[in-house]
Order: sequence, then structure tokens, then C-alpha cells
Amino acid sequence: MKQCRLWINNEWVDSIGGGMMPIENPATGDQIAEAVNATPKDVDVAVSAAHEAFYDGRWSRLTPSERSLAIWRLGDLLEQHKETFARAESDNTGKPYDSVSLGADIPFTVDNLRFFAAAARDTHGYSAGEYAQGYTSMFRKEPVGVVGQITPWNYPLMMAVWKLGPALAAGCTVVLKPAPNTPITTLMLAELCAEAGIPPGVVNVITGGGETGQALVEHPDVRMVSLTGSTGTGKKIMKTAADTLKRVHLELGGKAPFIVFDDANIENVAAVASQTSTFNTGQDCTAATRLYVENSCAKAVIEAVTEAMRAVKVGRPYDEGAAMGPLISGAHLGRVQGFVERAKAAGARVLTGGAPLEMGGGYFYLPTVIVDADQKSEIIQNEIFGPVLTISTFDTEVQALQLGNDVLYGLAASLWTQDIGRAMRLSRDLEFGAVWINDHIPVASETPHGGFKQSGFGKDLSHESVNDYRITKHVMIKNG
Ligand code: NAD
Repeated sequence: MKQCRLWINNEWVDSIGGGMMPIENPATGDQIAEAVNATPKDVDVAVSAAHEAFYDGRWSRLTPSERSLAIWRLGDLLEQHKETFARAESDNTGKPYDSVSLGADIPFTVDNLRFFAAAARDTHGYSAGEYAQGYTSMFRKEPVGVVGQITPWNYPLMMAVWKLGPALAAGCTVVLKPAPNTPITTLMLAELCAEAGIPPGVVNVITGGGETGQALVEHPDVRMVSLTGSTGTGKKIMKTAADTLKRVHLELGGKAPFIVFDDANIENVAAVASQTSTFNTGQDCTAATRLYVENSCAKAVIEAVTEAMRAVKVGRPYDEGAAMGPLISGAHLGRVQGFVERAKAAGARVLTGGAPLEMGGGYFYLPTVIVDADQKSEIIQNEIFGPVLTISTFDTEVQALQLGNDVLYGLAASLWTQDIGRAMRLSRDLEFGAVWINDHIPVASETPHGGFKQSGFGKDLSHESVNDYRITKHVMIKNG
């Protein structure tokens, strides 16, 4: 069985006193590896490595062109090893190998790295001039310093790149902690960073759970913490970071509305709603979760969406044509099932799914459609993170907007209409970091990704993410 160690200073190192955590394959429930549950001493060693690497300038003082080249090489290496990475990702998460790991996650992750390689060339300050009599001012953009980064289990490799890419482009050094159950591809990526020519100490990966993350957030030499994770964890991190007044950058939970007016194309609505509520088994912060449909077309939309959900092919990672794999763990399966059972007990109806799917092992759950749930009930208000779509109705545009905004989250939303005026009004008034019109979920390396409200703040991807890892310095020179 694979034994994962810690990656510090471009070397595999043993933990100082940490135990091992089992790593499973959620498609079978079998243990496939063990990873270190890193201790605060390990965190200290990793942060010291990152601190030394930052202050001796081996990365932060390279030219943008040199940093860019190394990030570009990392993208090339990942592409060269795409099958190995896709296989490791599928084995650790249960994702369909062809359609998700190899077909979607890896190509996008390679593109993300190429974008960040380009963004690294554009990290100059933004002004120089005489703003006070006898003085010249310039505004430099400096890297923030040592960054602690913490990622979730739903897209382990991609989330690692969404964190590392902008931090490296900005000239920061990093200690990254992946989710305890999915560390494998992040560790593999760290090794590839060394092969790409990223110097020792610039990228360090420590594995472990919440306590390891907490030690990283507490560390006084860490200048900024970036988390992708749940809203609950974001709140804890923000409180902990207050003691050392670190910058925090939080990509948190979501509960995306999918708002359908009666002039929408029902065939497209059904295809996209079923795909985007089940992609990655619904374990996606931007997944379609709350479908609101105008009453006048509700019957047809509910029928079409339910039929499309029944047709989603659930399978093991290497099954031909599998579109949806298992949930990440037995505990998470129980959590998803708990939401559905409580909704049923409160009077909601399950039109399809609503139960685990027996596949001879693993944590499979059926694509599920629920109607008649109360807007204030937990199944509509809370993030489930499973392949569960609720459908509710509305009569007016005002009501649709009110229902769409009526959650604590604000990450992503979509609206479906041919009326351009309505699309413009609603895309302005929906309080979400992304609003799609007549589609749901597409994202590109250039597009900022991040939340409003309790979905957090700060952006991943795009030039904005690189800027989040930089700090403005005013340099003022007395002329003569
Ligand atoms: P989680 O919050 O349980 O864990 C996320 C990470 O935080 C893990 O690495 C975990 O070990 C660490 N952690 C937990 N407690 C900590 C603490 N007190 N201090 C420091 N670190 C701590 O989330 P998860 O279950 O791994 O992932 C699912 C969540 O991630 C969902 O809520 C999902 O919406 C969110 N997510 C958000 C985005 C986005 O871009 N907004 C993207 C993907 C996932």
C-alpha cells in the first residue's frame, strides 16, 4: 500500500511524531494508501522552509519571465503525465476516469497553469508620478509572503492549482494542506513542481486534518491564509487568523439557484439541470441545487428534468459511459441521505432517486429530484453536496429574484430566459459571484471565481486571484 510522506524543501520527509491516516477509494471502500497526520512541529518545519525560501529571494526575486517559465513547465509536465494523475485522482475520489478526471479536470487544470504562467508576466506596479510638490511616488506590487493554503476533497488537484498558481505567479512561497482524505494528487503535483524547476521551499505540502490546518493558520510566519472549504471552516479560520491579523481569502460553500422562466428552452434546461446537479456527484460548490420554475411551465419542466435525472449514468470510475461516480465517503453518504429523509418527513416528495445505489461496495447515491419542500427548510437552505435537486415554483420575476437570493450563500446562480431585459435586471440583482444566462457552470481560467455573502471573499482564477496574493507598497522619493 502507498505510504505518503510530507513534501518539504523539495524532498520527501518523515513526520515529527504524526500518526498515519487511511486513504480510501470511495468507489469500493478499500483502503489504497496512508498519509501523515502532520503535527504542529511538521507545520513549523514546512513554514520555516517557505519562510527561508521567501526571504532569500530564490523565487520572489526571480524575474517574472523566470517564474512564468517554471509555471509553464509545470503545466507541460502535468499534461505529459495526465493519465497517471487522472488515474490517481479517480482512485482517490471515485470520479469517472474518462468524462471527469481525464476529460475535464486535468485539461482545465493544465490550462489554469498556462494562464497563471502568463499572469506571472504582468505583476508590475501601476503608477509613478509627482503627487506632492517635490516628490515622486511609485506604487509597487509585492508578494504577500508565506501563504498557508487549505483545500477540499472535491477537486483535489484542481483546487491545489487554483491555490498554487496565483500565489506562485505573485512570487509568494506556500505551505499547502490538502483535505485529509484526498492528498495523493497534490503530493504528486508538489514533486512535479521540483521537476519544473521551482526551487526548494517554494512549494511545501503537509497532510492532515483540521488540527493541522489550524496550526498552519495560527503560525506567526504565515502572512495570508487561503481556504477552499465549507462556510463553517471559513468562519473558524477567520477567527483564528484574527489573532495574528493575517489576510484571509475564503472560497466557501454554495447553494446555486437555477431560475427558469416560461420562455426558456425546456430541452436545454433539462439537459443542463441534470448534468450540473450531478456533475462530480453534486459535490461542487457551484452545482445546480435549487431549481425555481415559472408556474406556467412547471409541469413540463418538472417532467423533463426528472426524466433527464433518471437517465444520468451512475458508475464506477472505469465503467464505460459513466457520468457520475460515488460520494466521497460513507459518512458523507449518510449526511446526504439524512437531508433527504428529513425532507420527506417534513412533507417533501421524491420524484426520482432519494436512496443509495447498491453497487457491491462504495458510496453511490441516486440522482434525486425533490418537490414540495418548504423554502425555509434545510434541504433548500443548506448545502447538501450531493446529487440532489429541489424544484420549486414562482409566479413573477420579483418572486423569482427573492427566492433565488433567499439563502446565506452567494457563489453562483443561473437564469433561463429569452428576454434580454429580464436577464440584465436579474443578473444585476442576484447576489452571487457568478451569474450564467441560459447555461450553468462553465468557467474559464480568465474568469474570476468567488463568492458573495457567506460563500466568502477573494477570487480564485483570473488576474484578480494573482492580485489577491500581492500587496501594494508606496515608495516616495524626495526630488533633490
Ligand atoms: P471542509 O471545510 O470540511 O474542509 C476544507 C479544508 O479545511 C480541509 O483541508 C480541512 O482539513 C480543513 N480544515 C477543517 N477545519 C479546519 C480548521 N479549523 N482550520 C484549518 N483548516 C481546517 O470542506 P470539505 O468538506 O473538504 O469540502 C467541501 C466544501 O468545500 C463545501 O462546502 C464546498 O462548497 C466547498 N468548496 C468551495 C469552493 C469554492 O470555490 N467556493 C470550491 C470547492 C469546494
